[in-house]
Amino acid sequence: MAGILRVAAVAVVVSIGSHAPALATDSPTLAIRVIDYAHAGSGVLIEAQHHVTRLLGAAGVAVAWREGDAALPANVTDQVTVLILSDAMAAGKIRTEHLSPAVLATAAPPPAHRAWVFLRRITEAAELQRRSAGLALGHVIAHEIAHMVAGVEHSENGVMAASFQLTDNLQGFTREQGERIRAAVQLDSGGVALDARNRSRTFRPDGVPAR
Ligand SMILES: [Zn+2]
Repeated sequence: MAGILRVAAVAVVVSIGSHAPALATDSPTLAIRVIDYAHAGSGVLIEAQHHVTRLLGAAGVAVAWREGDAALPANVTDQVTVLILSDAMAAGKIRTEHLSPAVLATAAPPPAHRAWVFLRRITEAAELQRRSAGLALGHVIAHEIAHMVAGVEHSENGVMAASFQLTDNLQGFTREQGERIRAAVQLDSGGVALDARNRSRTFRPDGVPAR
């Protein structure tokens, strides 16, 4: 197990180091509204927020993180809603949608921009890997945001890996993934599109692969 963690960590560092963060003043802002039905606790949410902000910041995207119905800054509108489900809500959704026990979160395809996160499962998976719940939650939220906002698919390494395997090194977006997210956020923030593209995609719920 320890060997697997180390190999994954080395592979990911390279992709992050090669991408210089954009200047903060250039960065389009993604508004993330978090509704915490699970009462995750402020420590967990703060760590998750910091992790999401760090990952998107490296991709040149600023984050306006709001919890509950807190107001957004002027000129910023909600773009992504993340629902952190209580145990009862998660159980209902899992049952209704026949989600496997490995699934940690699920996102609606564009233009809904809405994700449902199963905090209990994320916390348990983090404990098994001896990582903090906040880090794990941030990782899952950043992953779902990339699916939702830019239709980014899974990649072998980094935060878009299909498997949930946290490492000591930062698991970020590749340069190409970061550019796609940045372009999509810019477009959503009032940019002008040259042409219309069909952005609808099919999403699979996310989970931990069988080992
Ligand atoms: Zn995924």
